[in-house]
Amino acid sequence: MPTKAIRGIAASPGIAIGPILRYEAAKLVANQHYTSDIPHELLHLEEALTQARQEIHGFYEQAKQTIGTQEGAIFEAHEAFLNDPALLEQVHTAIQQQSSSAAFAWQEGIERYANQLRLLHDEYLAARATDLEDVGQRVLRILQGGQEQALRLTEPTIIVATDLTPSETVRFDTQMVCAFCTATGTPTSHAAILAKALGIPAITGLGSDLAQLADGLQVIVDGNTGEILLAPDAETLERYRLHAQIQTQKQRIALEASHQPAFTLDGKHVEIVANINSPDQVAEALTYGAEGVGLLRTEFLFLERATAPTEEEQFGIYRAILTGMHQQPVVVRTFDIGGDKPAPYMPVAEEMNPFLGVRGIRLALTQKELLQTQLRALLRAGVGQQLRIMFPMVSSSEEIDVLREHLMEARKTLEERQIAAAANVQIGIMIEVPAAALMADVLAEQVDFFSIGTNDLTQYTLAADRTNEAIAPFADALHPAVLRLIDSVCKAAHARQRWVGLCGELGGDPLALPVLLGLGLDELSMAPKAIPLCKQQVRLYSQEQAHEIAQQALKKRNAAEVRAYLKACSHTIGDH
Ligand code: PEP
Ligand code: MG
Repeated sequence: MPTKAIRGIAASPGIAIGPILRYEAAKLVANQHYTSDIPHELLHLEEALTQARQEIHGFYEQAKQTIGTQEGAIFEAHEAFLNDPALLEQVHTAIQQQSSSAAFAWQEGIERYANQLRLLHDEYLAARATDLEDVGQRVLRILQGGQEQALRLTEPTIIVATDLTPSETVRFDTQMVCAFCTATGTPTSHAAILAKALGIPAITGLGSDLAQLADGLQVIVDGNTGEILLAPDAETLERYRLHAQIQTQKQRIALEASHQPAFTLDGKHVEIVANINSPDQVAEALTYGAEGVGLLRTEFLFLERATAPTEEEQFGIYRAILTGMHQQPVVVRTFDIGGDKPAPYMPVAEEMNPFLGVRGIRLALTQKELLQTQLRALLRAGVGQQLRIMFPMVSSSEEIDVLREHLMEARKTLEERQIAAAANVQIGIMIEVPAAALMADVLAEQVDFFSIGTNDLTQYTLAADRTNEAIAPFADALHPAVLRLIDSVCKAAHARQRWVGLCGELGGDPLALPVLLGLGLDELSMAPKAIPLCKQQVRLYSQEQAHEIAQQALKKRNAAEVRAYLKACSHTIGDH
């Protein structure tokens, strides 16, 4: 009898085998209770907030040690919630004017704030609502005099939960937890990000299938495919054990060779570079052998704050990244705000379809001063460095004309102020809108390079919202429709001697590598940890072999056929 399997969203790669432990943190609730001693309640709240700050600071220090500053910063954001003036004012008012107990007032304040975030129907903000509730429960526990419950695990265990908060994720004993599986959440929820940073396989978005994962059931979790095999037979278990061992071995070998450039068997160099969001990730990118940065998502410098970063602030950050990368190329994308990444100080009227609305350069072009500030900061930071500037969400040639005028204006302002600006900056655009892909021959005349954003190109081509877990199977970047667009973009660019990179999640997927190589991509940009294995993959193929694989993939009828074909190819090449 074949082993039964259920499928969720692959959120962190790797294979784990073990028994399930259902983990559901009991949700604390405060009942309304009126106080006659308002100063006492205010003091009680203040003391609880102080203790919560200390606890969270402890997590921050612990996370910094075990998984790095970047991921640890999640807990800095938790601390910021505790100091949020609007939230604190609401809670104080409820205590002072309604004589609410501190616990009830706090609970109400958190619920209201979290609901506001969820009502915006945005994956990123919904994940922040979970963070906020995590902080809310911590303070409530302290106010109610409870102790933090630690889960004691005695054997390697697969944790199954409806959802996991960041502080739960980081508190688990990583020697004993071998995978996380959740009903909700997407690959961008913080628990998934932490799982990736901890190197623990994770599957999210299991929905009601979670009910099939009973306590003690033996399962295989495949974080690469999102599949969970229930009560596998001895032969399946053996196969996966071997697979997991080979994966670990391959990772080790790949890491040893990760500082060498990646050449195909017949000598084509493919630039393997990193996707990063902040200077903290430069060290990680270098550790894993990045030959540069293929995508610096600058919008992360603009989010979760009340005002935009100043020119000086941005200059400092860009300069630190450029110099930190030791003269290697750095592609900086101008802020891609809107869609799933709104900023409170860049208001956009309510939109039915934010992904089809005012986002990326559409928004930037309405915020002339912010764009000018960023371009000036970039031109200053790029002096003597290999800076490349890239614009997101471009859909027409007119936009490129206007963006080039903006760049000239930023240069002119610096000249007038007698401030040095970088010369020879390559200018590129993201190809993430199908219209841009189809018009690539025209757009290539206006820029130095393209970088294909398959995350958005896939959602727009297949009409499948990238943040909607219910339609995740439709949004497969290996769909031949997406591959055909990538193919025509590469041809159009190369016919005009422009280089083409790819910086969506597909770029770091080892299964996709031969196709991307065969379609002629010159650069692949990915999460730093994915670099060593992808470099190894490049070394397995000649350009001719990869070209043949790509041609076959382009002819397939759907994504499933492409995947099956690529799996068969990688078996032949001896990679699996
Ligand atoms: C993409 O769309 O593929 C991309 C890299 O940009 P982002 O994921 O930031 O939208
Ligand atoms: Mg994008």
